[in-house]
Amino acid sequence: MTDCIFCRIAAKEIPADVMYEDDEHLAFRDIHPAAPLHAVLVPKRHFATLLDVADPVVQGKLMLAALATARALGIEESGFRLVANYGADGGQEVMHVHWHVLGGRMFGWPPG
Ligand code: 5GP
Ligand code: ZN
Repeated sequence: MTDCIFCRIAAKEIPADVMYEDDEHLAFRDIHPAAPLHAVLVPKRHFATLLDVADPVVQGKLMLAALATARALGIEESGFRLVANYGADGGQEVMHVHWHVLGGRMFGWPPG
């Protein structure tokens, strides 16, 4: 999808600071980081939201890639948080499915 910003980043048409990559996924530094380490992990294939990823293999590989991103960031030992925003209350702004991979500081609970 040419009008999707994350498709364009995944296609390397728009530059981003790549933090993890495999054949089907790309993680890049969030332009407005909410933590010292903050990657956005996307599938290279376009899906609008988490609920549009019907194939359990695709959904599972997306989660494994989020975990691989945490490892690539070196936050496996210190800990990390995975966040997927969905819908109006969840606050999803970019309509290309993504996991936020956050680390490098402690996070409160419940989230604000
Ligand atoms: P959402 O609220 O949809 O879960 O989060 C989208 C995230 O993508 C936000 O944290 C925002 O800062 C990030 N973002 C939006 N546009 C760009 C961009 O062009 N480049 C990068 N690196 N991050 C972006
Ligand atoms: Zn897209």
